[in-house]
Amino acid sequence: MFCIKCGKEDQELFKGLCYSCFAAGNKLITIPPELEVESCAHCSSIHVGDKWIETDLSEEELVAQTIAQESVPDEDAEDVVLEIDLINQKGSILEMLVTARGNVLGIPIEREFKINVKINRNACPECSKYASGYYEAVLQLRADERSLEDEEIQKADGIIKNLLEKLSRINRMAYLSQRVGIKEGIDYYFGSYKAARKISNALKEQMGGIMGESPRLMGRDKSAGKDLYRIWISLRLPLFLKGDFLAHDDHVGQVIDVNGRKIVIMDLETLENVSISWREYSNLEKVAGREDVKITTVTSKTPTEIQLLHPETYQPVDMNMMSQLTRINIGEEVEVIEIRGKLYIIPPKE
Ligand SMILES: [Zn+2]
Ligand SMILES: [Zn+2]
Repeated sequence: MFCIKCGKEDQELFKGLCYSCFAAGNKLITIPPELEVESCAHCSSIHVGDKWIETDLSEEELVAQTIAQESVPDEDAEDVVLEIDLINQKGSILEMLVTARGNVLGIPIEREFKINVKINRNACPECSKYASGYYEAVLQLRADERSLEDEEIQKADGIIKNLLEKLSRINRMAYLSQRVGIKEGIDYYFGSYKAARKISNALKEQMGGIMGESPRLMGRDKSAGKDLYRIWISLRLPLFLKGDFLAHDDHVGQVIDVNGRKIVIMDLETLENVSISWREYSNLEKVAGREDVKITTVTSKTPTEIQLLHPETYQPVDMNMMSQLTRINIGEEVEVIEIRGKLYIIPPKE
């Protein structure tokens, strides 16, 4: 037997060729001379198969990975390793040198391939949505029967900004696509309903209020065969602010704290704090504002009574002494509030 290529005799043959002729004709791998990679121009996502995934790879690493995936080792080659280097880049085309090393019939061989890889920079679906101002939910921040205070708007903006920063790390759709100030309050447009929901809950938790939600049908997604809804979430901050005065049943009190669970008032008769659930909100009446507090002077004091001057008429008013008021001395100024014709002392803060 002889090699059909070089004619050598007395050689062991493989598929009709001597080992060195066979190895010389082996390419180690097959690889297309042109490849394409699709990446998002706005974020770190790449298009793989039929979906977009986020990656930490650099563009060059991504190209190398694609080349490795597209290379098919020859069935007669063993221990094939690839070395992949960038030779040249022109715009979105990367010229790559692929050096393949391996063994064929025990003979080490090396092959080089030049491959052009085109990088298509597009927008992934999430970035397209972001760019087009897409939103799933709108949070309408309002106040009940009044305008929002500047401090409330600032507080809400701060909470939203902080939370979005956290949420966007795990949810790409957790972005604010629009913030619109209107006469009635502020509308916040969010890319993700789930994020909008978390943010609304956090706002309510920290600022109190009454929350409601209503989906609106926006049309129909014909390709997916389902209705498209957007969700409107409303958070209505209470009628009253911290420091205002409320009537609840027969009690009047000053608002000490407002949070997602309850409203805390200091009862002006007992000077004790009382918690009121939000379920009672519609039974609360604002009877005075924090700006209605007046200052007057204590004129006399006994173990059972404290006397002060009415802030407007300057007539002496006698009141029952209470333990919270014993620290006040004659001649000192105290805060008072008149509600429904009755004067109450607001004990000094400790
Ligand atoms: Zn031969
Ligand atoms: Zn993207």
